[in-house]
Amino acid sequence: MEATIKDRIKAYFEEQKEAMLADIIDIVAMRSVKGEPEPGMPFGRELAQVVEHTEQLAHRLGLSTKNFDNYVLTVNLNDKPTELGIFAHLDVVHEGTGWTTPPYEPDIRDGKIFGRGVADDKGPAVAALYALKAVKDLGIELSKNVRVILGTDEESGSGDLPYYFERECPPPYSFSPDAAYPVYNIEKGRFQGTFTSQYKDNGALPRVVRIEGGHTMNIVAQKAEALIEGMAVEEIERICREMAADMKVELTVVQEGDFVRLTVTGASAHACDPAAGNNANTAILAMLAALPLAESEGKQRICSLARLFPHGDYFGKALGIQMEDKVSGPLTCSFDILRYDAAQLSGSIDCRCPVCSNEENTSEVADRWLSECDLHLETTKMVAPHYVPEDLPFIQTLLRAYEEYTGMKGECWAMGGGTYVHGIENAVAFGACYPYTDVRGHAADEFAVIEELMVSAQLFTQIIIDMCR
Ligand SMILES: [Zn+2]
Repeated sequence: MEATIKDRIKAYFEEQKEAMLADIIDIVAMRSVKGEPEPGMPFGRELAQVVEHTEQLAHRLGLSTKNFDNYVLTVNLNDKPTELGIFAHLDVVHEGTGWTTPPYEPDIRDGKIFGRGVADDKGPAVAALYALKAVKDLGIELSKNVRVILGTDEESGSGDLPYYFERECPPPYSFSPDAAYPVYNIEKGRFQGTFTSQYKDNGALPRVVRIEGGHTMNIVAQKAEALIEGMAVEEIERICREMAADMKVELTVVQEGDFVRLTVTGASAHACDPAAGNNANTAILAMLAALPLAESEGKQRICSLARLFPHGDYFGKALGIQMEDKVSGPLTCSFDILRYDAAQLSGSIDCRCPVCSNEENTSEVADRWLSECDLHLETTKMVAPHYVPEDLPFIQTLLRAYEEYTGMKGECWAMGGGTYVHGIENAVAFGACYPYTDVRGHAADEFAVIEELMVSAQLFTQIIIDMCR
């Protein structure tokens, strides 16, 4: 019986392939970047237009829709109780520059479609609509409904889903084809903090006049610079050169009027994987703490920071928040922004937290250790981790269908970042590109592999049948 259904699904999509690709091309050709709100258009005119377009597409496919005031569009297969939700989104990030072909004139080459939003997330959204149509056209009787929930503000603030959840409950089980295969059942939590400190400068030399390192909260600092007064270039070189080699960072030391400028260059990376980079902030702090600076409150702060954030500690060990669990791996901690002058400093850290983390064992502990060094945590935001157990029958259904339709190993992975369904019960990221296909989401020449979209549509069809029959 199952084999027959699979054969019918495959045959169906062979027949529908051209129509589905044409609909993907149409929707990708519509720019849908968040704009100024207008009456009835909470995220601007382009988003309202793409919602209207998608509503018409769904009707043409024989599906019913409900427009939640241009925040969210839902597409339903039937009017039975909803069992399964598929979360996708219709907004795209700005096209940027550097495209080989125009971003809103989708181009097919090498078995791929190129265009802004084709992978993230319009191609998968259209594949989901076609999966609903397939179940209907194949005449398969369902006892429950599947609902495609199409948001319009995933990329810039996610103001869409809260509006929807004030009006509707989330489906009992959901997946979101807005990442990659296989299943991501764990998304780490996130603790971001900015700390500050004020102190008096006694003017004693040598001293550090300024430090500037990193620029973005969730990016490992690639470059850090310091101005030092009262020391010779040669002496600083002598102390720092070997340290730079040990830490594998580039170092330049140059005289600049009365000061010496120390520049450290490491490597940037996303804060969810700080070990992939080489943090210039922690490297420059280690060097500055090793210099024979005059005693001062500022020097104390520099030494405290060097102690709390030793170079190469990606796991918050010195900050007292190192922890790890079997399902989600270790907590990671990245010291991304540092600003220091003679009277005050500020620093920002971005920690990705495993399932075992909470405020008590993470942000409160960090706060205590920082406070002891007169560093005051001012803004903290802790987003809880997201976890759906792998042995849930729903997850097993996803993995089984994935293996059957792709021939690849179905397994659950953890990610350091968060997805569209973070915090929604029994919801996971699932597809819609194959593992290790880099679709260049958010970058120039974003693409989707046509075969991966076609297989996704078949996979979704099978899952709808398995979950809603
Ligand atoms: Zn997305």
